[in-house]
Amino acid sequence: MDISTICVHGCEKKFDSTGAVAVPIFASATFAHPGVGQSTGFDYSRSLNPTNVHLEETVAALEGGSDAVAFSSGMAAVSALMELFSPGDHIIASDDLYGGTVRLFSHISQKNGIKVSYAATLENIEKTITGSTKAVFVETPSNPMMRVTDIAAVADITRKHKALLIVDNTFLTPYFQKPFSLGADIVLHSGTKYLGGHNDTLAGLLVVKDGGLAEKLRFIAKTTGGCLSPFDSFLIIRGIKTLAVRMERQQESALKIAHWLLEQNTVKKTYYPGLQAAPDYDISRRQADGFGGMLSFSVQNGKTAVHILESVKIIKYAESLGGVESLITYPMLQTHADLPESERNERGIDECLLRLSVGLESADDLITDLKQAIGSCSSITA
Ligand SMILES: *Cc1c(COP(=O)(O)O)cnc(C)c1O
Repeated sequence: MDISTICVHGCEKKFDSTGAVAVPIFASATFAHPGVGQSTGFDYSRSLNPTNVHLEETVAALEGGSDAVAFSSGMAAVSALMELFSPGDHIIASDDLYGGTVRLFSHISQKNGIKVSYAATLENIEKTITGSTKAVFVETPSNPMMRVTDIAAVADITRKHKALLIVDNTFLTPYFQKPFSLGADIVLHSGTKYLGGHNDTLAGLLVVKDGGLAEKLRFIAKTTGGCLSPFDSFLIIRGIKTLAVRMERQQESALKIAHWLLEQNTVKKTYYPGLQAAPDYDISRRQADGFGGMLSFSVQNGKTAVHILESVKIIKYAESLGGVESLITYPMLQTHADLPESERNERGIDECLLRLSVGLESADDLITDLKQAIGSCSSITA
């Protein structure tokens, strides 16, 4: 079945007999037992809720996994994920990650005795592996520099060293990229972004292929309690119904905008994996069916960047991504503010870098908006 059909119909599991076409919101914290020692399959919503099960099985089906667990946010999902590891365990992460994930690793995981190293390239991952390395954590395309990691090549390394390969698939979603087919063990989503797609709710998901891992993660989820509310679950299910058309359209507009940015004198560099000149273009073509709707660009100086942020009208200056509304972000001050300055500069996340999440407005209107914001910068000099 084509993925766009799965998006619309979800897992097709029915928990009521009314024939409701939309998935009902089971707003019940608890479930009555038919008898002592008996269960309808549902006992308490922190462990299992029918609306959440619908979302979880839908996302598992989209990713080609065996199970998924829904959380109240992407970060709640990463926090639960880290409970798989024990003091002394070592994790290697790609060096261009979502800032919140880096903050969790630096301030929570390290304190709990988990060592995290960052590696930019495959050779570095291989070199950084130790006897206690339990996982490699990859985000691809990365945030905000849009670098692409060869997932299958990393999977070769993790398999050899019996470490888990975790892939944050928030940017491309299963519509464009299926990490399990490339050897990943766990797929992570901030459902807040493309899956939900409407900038109206937070959610996170962990998807697995292996039943044993699913059992461990479900135990952690019900124990630590960062579960998703059934109302929000409903919103993510509704969002996923249009995932395919949104991804196609957002990608089409992103490519158009990236090409336009390339021609602007004010723009020094454009980062979009779908540009033929992008450093990882060939890997993207090989491992994904698309390039997504996220791009970053550098302007001549910080003043210009601030001017653009304050001059856009249709595009909103806000954190987050993947929704129908286009958002422009200042990574240095927003998503990556917690990174030490030296590290930020090393990665190119400086005062000149802006990130754009392309929404569903007309691409021409978005370009007109950027044009008036950039155009009015011409008087600014360093
Ligand atoms: C937003 C984001 C997260 C965190 O998700 P929240 O839902 O905001 O908690 C993790 N990874 C990536 C790539 C993200 O963009």
